[in-house]
Amino acid sequence: MKIDILIKNGIIIEFDKNPAISSIAITDGKILEIGKELEQKYDAKQIIDATNKIVMPGFINTHSHVAMSYFKGLADDLPLQEWLSKHIWPVENKFLSAEFVEDAALHGCAEMIKNGITTFSDMYFFGDQTAMSAEKIGIRAVLGEGVLDLPVANYQNADEIFAYIRKMHDKYEKSELIDFAVAPHAIYTCGKENLIKAKDLALELGILLHIHLSETKQEVQNCIKKTGLRPVEYLDSFGFFEGDVVVAHAIWIDENEQNILSKNNTSIAINTNSNLKLASGFDSFKSYLDHGVNLSIGTDGVASNNNLSIIEEMSFTSKMQKALNNDPTIFPAKEMVQIATIGGAKALKKCDQIGSIEVGKRADIILIDINNIEAQPMYDPYSHLVYSLTSEQIKDVIINGKIVMKDRQLVNIEEKELIEKAKYYQKKIAEFNHVR
Ligand SMILES: [Zn+2]
Repeated sequence: MKIDILIKNGIIIEFDKNPAISSIAITDGKILEIGKELEQKYDAKQIIDATNKIVMPGFINTHSHVAMSYFKGLADDLPLQEWLSKHIWPVENKFLSAEFVEDAALHGCAEMIKNGITTFSDMYFFGDQTAMSAEKIGIRAVLGEGVLDLPVANYQNADEIFAYIRKMHDKYEKSELIDFAVAPHAIYTCGKENLIKAKDLALELGILLHIHLSETKQEVQNCIKKTGLRPVEYLDSFGFFEGDVVVAHAIWIDENEQNILSKNNTSIAINTNSNLKLASGFDSFKSYLDHGVNLSIGTDGVASNNNLSIIEEMSFTSKMQKALNNDPTIFPAKEMVQIATIGGAKALKKCDQIGSIEVGKRADIILIDINNIEAQPMYDPYSHLVYSLTSEQIKDVIINGKIVMKDRQLVNIEEKELIEKAKYYQKKIAEFNHVR
């Protein structure tokens, strides 16, 4: 039988099994078979020798702002509100356009693939342009169009954004890579009326809701002052969690709020690096696990992180949670890898399609080189993934059964052009920043 790709002799991180040397047959974008001696059985158009490589499901990034890639390192070492209002919002005001987002998103998507991310769940504007860039480079994406009360980007009001989401949902309905979502920015930028409209639209179209919530103590205090309720209680008071919701950050959450999230099958996107850098908070996530709340990993934008390494997120999250709980046994390596893969798939309600290496699932697979000083010796691949490796060791990336990165070179895009474009925008943005 003819197939598209055969990955042979890799150390396969297969769902619910111990890592073992095996092979994977891929065709029509899907995993056809996992096992030994597949080479004799199938006639593959492409054979990838994965000797000395970990073969695992691609990482799923559940909270990003991919088109903020050109704002990486623009302003650092500031509190969240000052960073947003004095730096990020002014440059966005000046530069955001369809063309800018298309270019910046392409750069961001390239950076994601270099970090082994095969699916990302985004929150930004001009989703159509981000979708075009994602399709061009070959990455899977759930694109949350940002909803705010104030005029933003090319929208005069939230109703225009809702109409746009409808249009995009139709346009990309048949796309194998792109889904749209409704992404109210936060409870301090989006009033009750628009939050309800956002929820209703998501329920009607059967798409995801994606929101920043309880990122800082101040946000919680302001919410209590205004509504008498904590943020999760406030959203719950008008049925927001009836939808499929991914909550980004969710640092300042109490017991009752955790119960609400658990009851509603709401997922959390942990953004450890961004939260650490902005000193947004250092709360324990252990109780989420005790309450059965699904956890996943987000990178947030590169403007606040400032990289897109899921390997780094896993490492920081695990270590920070151990330190906070004074317990080195929590968030062990295997669990962290599951949070970064199948946890993300659950959060995006795509568990039946992605998040693990299983027959019948889409072939979103990454290959990581362990034949180097830093990776040897290796007793346990999970341990290496969380505590030893870096994204540099991720060599090949397959998404939807297609190779999009081969030996660290992107396949569908000229990397030189991306670098030149980033330099061009850096000059323009730096000039504006200077004048300001
Ligand atoms: Zn964010």
